[in-house]
Amino acid sequence: RERNQLNFSGGPGALPESVLRQLQEAIHAVPEVGLSILGISHRSDWFAAVVAELQSNIRGLLGLPPSYHVLFLQGGATQQFSMVPMALLAGRSRPADYLQTGYWSGKALPEARREGPVRVVWSGQACGFGRLPRDEELDFASDAAYLHYVSNETVEGLQFHRVIGRDEVPRVCDMSSDFLSAPGEFGRFSMIYAHAQKNIGPSGVTVVVLKDGLLDGAPDAMPGFLDYRRQIEAGSIFNTPPVFAIYAVLLVTRWLRDDVGGLAAMGGINAAKARLLYRALDRADGFYRPRAAVPDRSTMNVAFTLASPELEKRFLAEAEDAGFSGLAGHRSVGGIRASIYNGLQLGAVEKLVGFMDDYRRRHR
Ligand code: PMP
Repeated sequence: RERNQLNFSGGPGALPESVLRQLQEAIHAVPEVGLSILGISHRSDWFAAVVAELQSNIRGLLGLPPSYHVLFLQGGATQQFSMVPMALLAGRSRPADYLQTGYWSGKALPEARREGPVRVVWSGQACGFGRLPRDEELDFASDAAYLHYVSNETVEGLQFHRVIGRDEVPRVCDMSSDFLSAPGEFGRFSMIYAHAQKNIGPSGVTVVVLKDGLLDGAPDAMPGFLDYRRQIEAGSIFNTPPVFAIYAVLLVTRWLRDDVGGLAAMGGINAAKARLLYRALDRADGFYRPRAAVPDRSTMNVAFTLASPELEKRFLAEAEDAGFSGLAGHRSVGGIRASIYNGLQLGAVEKLVGFMDDYRRRHR
């Protein structure tokens, strides 16, 4: 078995080499501090500067003004499924609009229903989550408490290539699997959240970006840890935060800005990677069967099946032997999924395409 595996996993994903090297050094000792990152106080001036720079880097990359708060929270994206309706829905009479476009947006639904009324604007369940809604199929309420959707469905490989919803209703978006992967109209969202472990770091930290004023009217009595207002006041240091994970995200944002050249450049590279893979699927005469409808294909998660479970099992085993790790589809749907997050290089995708073409020739 190849010892240096390329990471095509749905998450945690690959991180850039230069970031891994800096982290390796930081585990031994952060140069400007002389201590291991694993033992630096979250109350130190050094960490305060890390948090401040990271907030500013994220605003800068997203093109957002200082009126957006940037928080670093724990509990993953899953905790946001609850924190969002606890703040924006509990005690309100107007329903929140939710889209059910796949596995992860579906997971957000029961958590929201626990807090208040929810209206499912559109569900892809009937079509097996093979596509996203077209604009004509979406009838948004003009007085919804907010709209919640997932910009990239990690499991099914479906991605919105446009912003949806009404401008007068706050948009709340789970961007966990396409955060900082390409430019976008981020100022049209009232809240964006994304865990780190796909495009921007290790697990343990979730980035939450929210517009000032969004929390006016949130219930008074909330557990402090789960109350965005308390987290804002504490500057994300409400309790001991994951210092290592936050530092890793800082290094990735520096890499994105200085080495890659910003989100436009990153988006170009990610689009090129996705094009290569989809082309390999499309020229395979049905040997590989893409899951997602063509207009909704994700640039991050390329999901497909083969003609039989045996062919898929063999594909995965041979791929692993050849050095391609993490290609098994999500346990809920099976099949194959190649995840090609920011840290995975074009050369890795070229190698995978070579393997796929060869596998097809041998098993046709
Ligand atoms: N939302 C999306 C889009 C995801 O892909 C995932 C996990 N892969 C989650 C939410 C859940 O994230 P976590 O494990 O950080 O709670």
